[in-house]
Amino acid sequence: MSKLNSIPVAVPVVQQPSGGAGNLLANVFDELTAFCRSRSLFMLHYCTGCGAIELPPAMTSRFDMERLGIQPMVTPRQADILLVTGYVSTKTLKRIILTYEQMNSPKYVIGICSCTVNGGMYWQSYATAKVLADYMPVDMYIAGCMPRPEAVISGLRELMANIRAGRSDNWKDYYRHYDHYLGNQQRLFGENWQTPTDVIGEARHYDQFGPETLGEHTALLERHQTPLLPFEMRLGLGSESNK
Ligand code: SF4
Repeated sequence: MSKLNSIPVAVPVVQQPSGGAGNLLANVFDELTAFCRSRSLFMLHYCTGCGAIELPPAMTSRFDMERLGIQPMVTPRQADILLVTGYVSTKTLKRIILTYEQMNSPKYVIGICSCTVNGGMYWQSYATAKVLADYMPVDMYIAGCMPRPEAVISGLRELMANIRAGRSDNWKDYYRHYDHYLGNQQRLFGENWQTPTDVIGEARHYDQFGPETLGEHTALLERHQTPLLPFEMRLGLGSESNK
């Protein structure tokens, strides 16, 4: 099994310390940044399946995840964590990928429920995507059917510790191995699948462009890419445009 196909249960790359007395100030600043980042996380919870039921108790007074420094966010543009809470249908997966690509880096993905790990009880369904990590890098799975709020809180605390220690940088993998992820997406959605995000441009922007960013699947992307049409909003009840 290739490295990319293994389930990434919070086993990201270990950062190399830059070392040297001249870098002492930079190291202190980096550690301070990592600490602040780990204690101030905005979470977008995409309620795809039944696992979402355990989120309200995790968020509200009983377990109160805000005391940890984590609170919900309504837009992907300002979210740090994408929480996928259960089985993912093929149709929903398109929206999850669109959402993920809109988030700014660094960003983190948590798959809640066994259904995000391997399909769970829907492993035989023709309509579900089985392994979330095939389509985007997953920083952590919180398995169970369904996991209790204690498990959700515990998983979030572990993610915070990983961010602080510089161990949660799986977001870079999407840029470094974009051809791999795009290939899996194309197998599910068809070879003319495209999203509005310029992932290749972002890979260069974040200095993550590598030998496996481009490949046979990104070549297909270029071949099929069509200009995105501007969204046309039509108002007016009873008019022809609304029929
Ligand atoms: S793991 Fe169980 S609770 Fe979670 S989405 Fe799947 S069936 Fe629902």
